[in-house]
Amino acid sequence: MGRRRPSRVVVLGAGLAGAFAAAAAAAPGRTVTLVERDVLPTEPAARPGVPQGRLLHVYLHRGLLAIEELLPGFRGEMQAAGAVSFDSGDLAWLGEFGWGSTGRRQFPLLSATRPLVEHVVLERVRALPGVVVRDGVRVQRLRRGAGPDEPAWWVDGVAGSDAADGAASDERLTLAADLLVDATGRSSRLPVWLAAAGVRAAEVSEVDAHIGYAARRYAMDGVEVVPPGVVVLQTPRDPAGGIALPVEDGRWLVGAIGAGDLRPPRDAEGFTRFLDGLRHDAVAQLARAGTPEGDVVVHRQTGNRRHHYERVRDWPPGLLVVGDALCAFNPVYGQGVTVAACEALVLRDALRRGLAAGDERRILRRFVRVAALPWAVATSSDLRYSTDTRPSPLQALLGRWTQELDRLTSHGDVLAQSTVARVYHLMASPLLLVRPGLLRAALRARRHGYGPAVPAPEVITRTATLPDHPRVDTP
Ligand SMILES: Cc1cc2nc3c(=O)[nH]c(=O)nc-3n(C[C@H](O)[C@H](O)[C@H](O)COP(=O)(O)OP(=O)(O)OC[C@H]3O[C@@H](n4cnc5c(N)ncnc54)[C@H](O)[C@@H]3O)c2cc1C
Repeated sequence: MGRRRPSRVVVLGAGLAGAFAAAAAAAPGRTVTLVERDVLPTEPAARPGVPQGRLLHVYLHRGLLAIEELLPGFRGEMQAAGAVSFDSGDLAWLGEFGWGSTGRRQFPLLSATRPLVEHVVLERVRALPGVVVRDGVRVQRLRRGAGPDEPAWWVDGVAGSDAADGAASDERLTLAADLLVDATGRSSRLPVWLAAAGVRAAEVSEVDAHIGYAARRYAMDGVEVVPPGVVVLQTPRDPAGGIALPVEDGRWLVGAIGAGDLRPPRDAEGFTRFLDGLRHDAVAQLARAGTPEGDVVVHRQTGNRRHHYERVRDWPPGLLVVGDALCAFNPVYGQGVTVAACEALVLRDALRRGLAAGDERRILRRFVRVAALPWAVATSSDLRYSTDTRPSPLQALLGRWTQELDRLTSHGDVLAQSTVARVYHLMASPLLLVRPGLLRAALRARRHGYGPAVPAPEVITRTATLPDHPRVDTP
């Protein structure tokens, strides 16, 4: 049998994974319908279907490259819309054993609010030939086509119930799909829909360190911040961390991260106290110098969860799953958007070749390979906080070795710093972490000492009220 070129692609969910999948599928002679429950805003704005929209987002270099490949010119459009560019090597970064920044060039990154990224991406996707966005439509059920003359799937939805005026018009809608892509995120109902369609359940893997995440926006008028961003990493010994990054319109987003009893609170006073209690006050200084805007936003669904759809033997033709619906990560590692964009590139290449029988499972396996390193990074790190699950010997070894690299970095080892950054940004194989130069550096440090620690960076040189802010002490 020849290769199929699906002419009706339906993507469920217009979050970033859905938008990337639609961009990947768009091609002459094909209709790509992006179905979204929310009524999509016409300007960058947070919306109910993406509750993480008001929290801080970090974009890995690999992800930015993948988005640029899907939507050429994306970086320039983001910059024109106010996104802030900086080099990852300039971030002030307090790791487990000390400050790691050496100011050497690493990767050009972009920082912007999540709604701005989604807006720029969706505007581009809407303009692609054959793409139709059906927003305000909640997908309720999937049905498999009944025979060779039918499409692979029927999608049943209801329109209007999320309209801003709250009027539930309940207009029914049915779409035919030769290829259906589920991108409805972490709370995807695909397991329920598949059970109803008679498909056996997929196994689920889960690692949940019960990490809480909170953020608040600050105006920084008249404040001079030296580094382009500040990170105080949470560690098993001190499971509270913070992060501050500039976004569009001269604002900064300040995030607080904590595990177990140390999850950051929702009230403004408690949030400030949480930042003040971090093992270094770099993030707190920034928050104190700025003017808070809006409430503290909290998110606590941070477990790593993946559905092993690729293992379902009778996986139905014409169905794929991307983004958080397939594999959701603890967001503190900033990987989800990158994985979704890289999956979209896999989808684009597969559709260009055409689909042969059984290709859907092969594509799902490729998605799994895309997510493998981020999954290993997130889960091996989270298992250090989890009391529910013990790490495997390999995960424990990986954890100890990355601690050693962190220690080298905090003593100015440039090779350790650049290697960790390359792997973290998914720009190199994790095998690079055991390159001989690093093993030699670790042995040398054990024999002769680690050398002087990287000094704490200066964070703020001037605030609106205080002309010369005192320098920050080394932790
Ligand atoms: C607090 C937090 C912070 C994060 N920070 C980062 C970060 O720094 N960097 C990073 O790379 N990633 C981060 N992520 C992860 C990232 O947001 C996601 O991995 C990425 O956006 C892909 O999500 P998605 O599109 O698969 O799902 P979602 O963003 O959840 O989108 C799903 C979409 O499907 C729609 N939908 C759901 N059900 C239906 C239905 N029945 N019918 C129609 N539509 C439906 C929803 O309305 C929504 O628009 C973070 C996540 C969280 C929760």
